[in-house]
Amino acid sequence: MDTDVLIVGAGPTGLMLANQLARRGVNAQIIDRHAGPARETRALGVQARTLEIYAHLGIVDRALEMGKQGTGGNIWAQGRLMANVPLNDAGDAVTPYPYILVLGQDDNELIMGERLRELGMSVQWNTELTGLEQRLDHVDAALRQPDSTTRTLTAAWVAGCDGARSAVREACGITFPGAPYEHVFFVADTVATGSMVPDEVNVYLWRDGFHLFFPLRGQDHWRLVGILPKELRGDQHVDFDAVIPSLTREAGEGLSFKECMWFSTYRIHHRSAEHFRDRRCFLLGDAAHIHSPVGAQGMNTGLQDAYNLAWKLALVTQGRAGAALLDSYEAERVPVARRLLDTTDRGFRLIVSDNPLAGIFRTEILARIMAFAMRRKWMQRIAFRTISQIGIHYRSGPLSQSLDGFRSDAPQAGDRFPWLKLKLEPNGAVEDLFAKLDDTRFNLILFGQPAPKEGALGLGDLLRVYAVPDDRGNNVELSRAQIPRPSFYLVRPDGHVGLCGARIDATALARYVFERLRLTR
Ligand SMILES: Cc1cc2nc3c(=O)[nH]c(=O)nc-3n(C[C@H](O)[C@H](O)[C@H](O)COP(=O)(O)OP(=O)(O)OC[C@H]3O[C@@H](n4cnc5c(N)ncnc54)[C@H](O)[C@@H]3O)c2cc1C
Repeated sequence: MDTDVLIVGAGPTGLMLANQLARRGVNAQIIDRHAGPARETRALGVQARTLEIYAHLGIVDRALEMGKQGTGGNIWAQGRLMANVPLNDAGDAVTPYPYILVLGQDDNELIMGERLRELGMSVQWNTELTGLEQRLDHVDAALRQPDSTTRTLTAAWVAGCDGARSAVREACGITFPGAPYEHVFFVADTVATGSMVPDEVNVYLWRDGFHLFFPLRGQDHWRLVGILPKELRGDQHVDFDAVIPSLTREAGEGLSFKECMWFSTYRIHHRSAEHFRDRRCFLLGDAAHIHSPVGAQGMNTGLQDAYNLAWKLALVTQGRAGAALLDSYEAERVPVARRLLDTTDRGFRLIVSDNPLAGIFRTEILARIMAFAMRRKWMQRIAFRTISQIGIHYRSGPLSQSLDGFRSDAPQAGDRFPWLKLKLEPNGAVEDLFAKLDDTRFNLILFGQPAPKEGALGLGDLLRVYAVPDDRGNNVELSRAQIPRPSFYLVRPDGHVGLCGARIDATALARYVFERLRLTR
């Protein structure tokens, strides 16, 4: 076998998977048909959940240094500010990163590419997957090499991170149902002044469309995204100057552009692959799902597909878990993608419908509803949890088990384990539990009960155990997160709760580990 995992595609999804496999010591290779990293910015919003993953990967500081924190959102309609959503207020209790980081996809790829090289793996550029054959115990992958010759590489598993036109998906015969949107998007990097609230995302709802400004690094530097005004939709050669009159009409007279460094238009689709797996091949990122950019979710969802699959592939390729563990990838990620597709599609249709009544609804009623709702702290918190992807859970997934009788208002199996700051030693300092948890292992966290004897749990070096001491400060923090005492949480390497309950029960844990995780003894 040439490699345990062949990763096809070195976009953000493939690079995340390669990093996660490399740091777990998996023998993997990553190829891309292009000559080098993409130059286009494309996705721009990095969500809090992605930043948490970046922190474990050791690249969050670099991302924060290169990006710009969008600390709030503003909704404008007909030249008036209708609602302000302060993201940091809504998120500062739930994540160390209570904002949306505005950092181009090209920079995200650059940072992940650098980290990958530090981990000893490099992308094989100019190398294209042209076909594959699935065998019982491996895949034969046909690769066109930089010198245009073709060779066959044998891999135990293939990860299709090869974007919307995925060759892996095609070779597996997996359908990609969905449709294109009729609207054409535009994107522009500008230097502009106007009513936009600095450092925040500004959304302008029109009677027949919308545009939004993302703050970028640099004085008055904004990324502008929107849909082309109706009258320009048939024009193949539309340029930025043609869009400006509509922008100033909708955003108010104060809007002025000093420079436009980049302008492009593109069409988008909403589609989801019928399956995310066919025997030894997986689909991740845009190869598996594409949707409207509303909510800046696309790139982030691909990164989390990779984070979900990586630890499972690592355990299976290292012979520590049975291949059945890999079934949970599709079971967990398909519902996430379908939900996302549904919400972004509904949100998108609401803000782009050409129907005049919809236009009035958007600018008069929707803007007011949002203004009203967003003044409520609890609504702000729900909005933040949704957009930041912190609220994504796998409660109905095959790896999630909350033991009978466990309090239903507590964090449950399948949830992302909450961010907590706790004393982990009776007289120690308060520590960030996220920073402490090792995401290449399982972490068992116990509250209101002692740790079981070493070795009693049978997970060996795959497990770290933390028994959180009784302490006034700790108790306040646990009440805030609604974590009961006694309780225990077995947290998976990707930060989601696998098993939880009140008192640790070694038999239930052993059953969970062998029956659900399929770990081998
Ligand atoms: C203009 C534009 C704006 C966008 N804005 C946003 C946004 O604001 N927010 C957001 O979240 N998302 C946005 N998106 C979507 C976002 O860019 C994608 O979700 C993201 O790129 C998906 O990453 P990926 O790694 O899955 O796929 P890709 O980035 O498409 O990477 C796939 C890689 O696979 C390689 N490849 C393909 N076929 C083969 C083959 N046969 N052999 C070898 N290599 C192959 C390609 O060369 C490419 O490098 C935008 C997209 C576009 C086009």
